[in-house]
Amino acid sequence: MLPRPPPAVTASDTLNLPAPFSQIPFYPLRYPHPSPIHPLPHLTSSLNDEIHSAPSHDPPRITTALWAKREDHSSPLAASGNKYRKLEYIVPDILNHHHDGSKATTLITEGAIQSNHTVQVAALASSLGLDSLVLLHENTGAGLKTTTDRASFLRTGNVQLCRLLGAEIRIIAPDDDSAVVEDDLVGPVKVLEELRARGKVPYWIPSGASLHPLGGLGYARCAFEVAAQEKGILPGGSRFDYIFVACGSGSTLAGLIAGFKLLEKTEAVHDDKTHKEKKLLPPRRVIGILTSPTKPRVYHEERILRLARATAGLIRLDPERDITPDDVRLDDRFVGAAYGLFDPQTKAALETLARVDGVVVDPVYTGKVLRGIMHWVAEGEIAKDWSARVGAQGISGVDEVNVLFMHTGGQSALGAYADI
Ligand SMILES: *Cc1c(COP(=O)(O)O)cnc(C)c1O
Repeated sequence: MLPRPPPAVTASDTLNLPAPFSQIPFYPLRYPHPSPIHPLPHLTSSLNDEIHSAPSHDPPRITTALWAKREDHSSPLAASGNKYRKLEYIVPDILNHHHDGSKATTLITEGAIQSNHTVQVAALASSLGLDSLVLLHENTGAGLKTTTDRASFLRTGNVQLCRLLGAEIRIIAPDDDSAVVEDDLVGPVKVLEELRARGKVPYWIPSGASLHPLGGLGYARCAFEVAAQEKGILPGGSRFDYIFVACGSGSTLAGLIAGFKLLEKTEAVHDDKTHKEKKLLPPRRVIGILTSPTKPRVYHEERILRLARATAGLIRLDPERDITPDDVRLDDRFVGAAYGLFDPQTKAALETLARVDGVVVDPVYTGKVLRGIMHWVAEGEIAKDWSARVGAQGISGVDEVNVLFMHTGGQSALGAYADI
């Protein structure tokens, strides 16, 4: 093969990010345009009809408009999804990484069987001309335990994609301690040593890239992208008032929290300078939908707070003052019985969207988020939360609340969930 030219690392300036955020090295893995945002017209009208016809609710003064941001259409790389945004800030570190004078040769990461993250790391490795090693844990989640076709769950969908992308795949049995990750930042020591003994220079990317110190920056940047898109899509001055996103390893949610905080502060300074009237709208609210019942909600709340504060520190917010427990909103009502288990209610949500708007989501993450959004809208929880924040009088001229569903990808796992 011909030697490849060194990849270019650029500063991220196209979104008018404030310094020092704009100076943090960034390596584009997505298309140069924002991932699309589009309305979900039929789901919107069917859910609003449900509220209107429910006799137990007060007549709602506000309606909810649903939109989807298509992170699954953001990159030319395989199985586009949310991990590419995170990896854009990690690539410069990969390219700088050396061991005994040699550059990184091998990306190594881990996940559940059917992990989307591992596919995105494998595709990144291919695109950088590196090797990849993917550790897939048999005992994580319930997908494998509950499938009626074990053999196909172990080799179709995302596992197949990893293989196609050239990754070395190791399925780690529950009693196999050869790939134990003792420290999320260091990685599986035995496997790393084995690779070094083979003359490789491994670069470890923790699960979901969330505990990587740079893992939250991608979605902090995404907050600025969403704000830039609001201006072109929504009628004058309107915003995406609620943003719903899956919370798995956590840095997607945590990054968004930090990014929107910086954005709101930047907007406020700008409004003061231009003597614009102070905004009457409350800050945008990011709501994380938990996707696993394994750990209690408080565990995730603390973790997200820590991750959001770590990202905040990198973009020159005051971590302790600017990011508070109140910024971390997690809903654990839609986790189902296990991570990776495709429960009947999630299945119903997935089918509804597929049949009314022709849009397909995934069984592990976005299906649960969709179920959550449908509940929040149909049960009038959006309207209630909004009224609680803006007062019973509402805001004059605002009779519609915009809700953004972050479609983070994952449809490539559907083939392994063939029982649908
Ligand atoms: C990884 C993943 C998530 C969760 O993102 P985290 O940052 O790990 O919380 C959501 N949706 C899909 C499709 C994913 O692959």
